[in-house]
Amino acid sequence: MNAIQEEILELKARMGATILAHNYVDAAVQDIADFCGDSLELSRKAKDNSAETIIFCGVRFMGETAKLLSPGARVLMPAKDAGCLMADMCDPEKIRAYKAGHPDHLLVAYVNTTAETKALVDVCVTSGNAERIVTKLGSERPIMFLPDQNLGANLNNRLGMKMDLWPGCCPVHHRIAPDMIKAAREAHPRAPLMVHLECQPEIVALADAALSTAGMLKFVEKSDAREFIVGTECGMIYRLSCAFPDRKFYGIEPKLVCKNMKKITLENVLDCLKGRGFEIEMDPELMAAAVRPIERMLELS
Ligand code: SF4
Repeated sequence: MNAIQEEILELKARMGATILAHNYVDAAVQDIADFCGDSLELSRKAKDNSAETIIFCGVRFMGETAKLLSPGARVLMPAKDAGCLMADMCDPEKIRAYKAGHPDHLLVAYVNTTAETKALVDVCVTSGNAERIVTKLGSERPIMFLPDQNLGANLNNRLGMKMDLWPGCCPVHHRIAPDMIKAAREAHPRAPLMVHLECQPEIVALADAALSTAGMLKFVEKSDAREFIVGTECGMIYRLSCAFPDRKFYGIEPKLVCKNMKKITLENVLDCLKGRGFEIEMDPELMAAAVRPIERMLELS
């Protein structure tokens, strides 16, 4: 622990705050978190949280989800401008127009969406529970899946479904190309290759497993392999290395970085604890509408 990390832990304990961190934030920030996880795990932690203050080390939609599930807590973001490029690809006006034109469709939204988007949909999913939930929803009503066209297409392929797909994606995962996979395979021929479900279907077809980040941890746990190629944001390599110090993990080159996740630093986490964070505040009506699809998700997952 360095001096700033020690100061953070001391202040956090004094305030009785909880620090939640996504698997993609910097290693030094993961080290001071009470809990690191993927969107589904962090949603559950936020719901079970009893602390008055949650410091959310991740992007804005995650902080909003924590606030929706723990409305009595003060949710503070260390970086005001840490947004998600995929979440921004859902324009609420366009969703309203889609709903008006397709009144029979069920809207299933990836949790990587703003509260405004969540307020307009029927149920949320994460990459960890999407397959289970979409299967449970069945095929009684046609489905529009938003905003990740890659996750939606991968689900369609896996489940033999024909969901409509919103034209959105995570630019970090979308840029993984077949030549990057080939180079990684050549460099590490004995390592199984895991990719995130937000990758394009042609990339998923080249991988040994397509998973959420929580799924990657489980995959490694069950595997006899000693080394792995990890096709997701580079923060996950540190998370896996901490969980399995006796195994080796290699990223896909060039390195996959979500610039927004990297806006969370030890300095701004400390600022947050000193009263200079950015509190998530939402209109009560918006909160009531946006929490419904998340609760539905937690019931179904
Ligand atoms: S990795 Fe992709 S989906 Fe995740 S926060 Fe960054 S842009 Fe959004």
